[in-house]
Amino acid sequence: MTELTLIPGLGTALPAPRRNRHFIDGGLVDSASGEVTDRLSPAHGVLVSHSAAGGAAEAEAAIRAARRAFDDGRWSRLSGKARATVLLKVADLIETLESGKPITQSRGEVAGAADLWRYAAALARTVEGDSHNGLGPEILAVVLKEPIGVVSIITPWNFPFWILSQKLPFALAAGCTCVVKPSEMTPSTTAMLADLLVEAGLPAGVVNIVLGLGQPVGAALTAHDDVDMISFTGSTAVGKLISRSASDTLKKVALELGGKNPQVIFPDADLDSAADAVTFGVHFNVGQCCNSGSRIIVHEDIAEDFVARVVALSRRVVFGDPLDPATQVGAIVTPEHNARIHAHVQAARAAGARVLLGGAVLQIAGLGPQFYQPTVIAGVTPDMAIARAEVFGPVLVVLTFRTLDEAIALTNDSDYGLSAGVWSEDVHTCLTFARAAQAGTVWTNTWMDGFPEVTFGGVKQSGQGREIGRYGLEEFLEVKSLVMRLGRTRAPWVKTP
Ligand code: NAD
Repeated sequence: MTELTLIPGLGTALPAPRRNRHFIDGGLVDSASGEVTDRLSPAHGVLVSHSAAGGAAEAEAAIRAARRAFDDGRWSRLSGKARATVLLKVADLIETLESGKPITQSRGEVAGAADLWRYAAALARTVEGDSHNGLGPEILAVVLKEPIGVVSIITPWNFPFWILSQKLPFALAAGCTCVVKPSEMTPSTTAMLADLLVEAGLPAGVVNIVLGLGQPVGAALTAHDDVDMISFTGSTAVGKLISRSASDTLKKVALELGGKNPQVIFPDADLDSAADAVTFGVHFNVGQCCNSGSRIIVHEDIAEDFVARVVALSRRVVFGDPLDPATQVGAIVTPEHNARIHAHVQAARAAGARVLLGGAVLQIAGLGPQFYQPTVIAGVTPDMAIARAEVFGPVLVVLTFRTLDEAIALTNDSDYGLSAGVWSEDVHTCLTFARAAQAGTVWTNTWMDGFPEVTFGGVKQSGQGREIGRYGLEEFLEVKSLVMRLGRTRAPWVKTP
């Protein structure tokens, strides 16, 4: 397609494949079964890593190590200051990490992750509860915050190091010990972290990493008696399986799941900025992003003009070899996922929607077939599957509205509730929308701005619990009430003569 902006394959030789091992009780180990998973670079089709494929034995060993490390207090009983010192050291080491991942956005992800570790280190010194000194002179009560225990952390492939860093340093700041399972598709950055944790002086067994598939490793981490909490980011379908599995032992579950996130555009908005943010929102990370702004709800007076702007901008987004620093959008994670994206688009066509741009697999010279064209679909009605499903690709759907109430109703007409955005120069419009939108985050006149200080999470089927910010620490803390009576002031319950 000549009207898109493409960067062909650079032909760069990739480094020798990385060998990833489990990290259990402070040591690197292979699987007892000897099994290994290979991973090809999605853009180049070249082998980039071999990873030990774990099983029940590795999951068990990792959970035991985390349990021992929690129960003997080698981490949980350290002061906040001592924990913060180790987390800050990890942050320093992350900043010097040369991630093997492609390129500008990966570097941004690693730098941002270091900042999350720094912020969590600061929170380690703020673990504090409440005091109740208004219960009468003879009673003093305090509410303590204690680490919840052993936490299973299960992460997806789309921002592997960032998402791990939204969870792990906060769990550690709270004093928990952890077993981490990264996605089988992107284990390398998590595996690299093991070396940094050792170098930073984290005691053995406090963090354990088991590589492998959701079944059996992830499933074992969600069912085991010795695990107190699961912190999961991934698809809504797997989130539901995890919730069911955790219910047998009533573990605490925190879930960060999918989204079908709307941006609402009013006629009085700064339309240049809105069109740019919509284009960014849907194509960033090829739409493989929980916060993908995958549907827009545009006022009908401006819809045609606004969508034409987004189509024109989408043609200018640079798709191509992720190793070129000029590339903005790379490959789709697997051939199967590319086929799924295309099936969604075909179903939308069959349902009567109009594909204004893209709508096909993208072949770029010198690269493999795992790319998808930037796609914009209009003529969409709220009942169509394309308006409701999380496509997880560079596919934007356009809905229209006439009144604020209609825009709010369309926004909330979704199983998901991760994020939503509104574009208007009228503060009343923005705030009315923000208060009515069913979403964990609402952006006004911006999209996907995030900060370690500002908590994140979803409502409805986008998840439960919160990450980052102060709430990100609270998630890993259990609350204990301590009631103390001063002196012998309590009247006896049993009457004695
Ligand atoms: P996925 O649900 O397929 O896999 C996520 C993780 O769960 C992987 O590590 C996988 O091995 C593991 N897993 C699979 N089956 C399991 C089971 N039965 N028990 C335990 N673990 C199991 O998700 P994905 O394809 O890796 O990631 C994409 C999804 O993640 C999208 O839906 C996206 O919206 C969501 N996501 C959400 C957020 C957020 O913060 N809300 C962020 C990023 C991604």
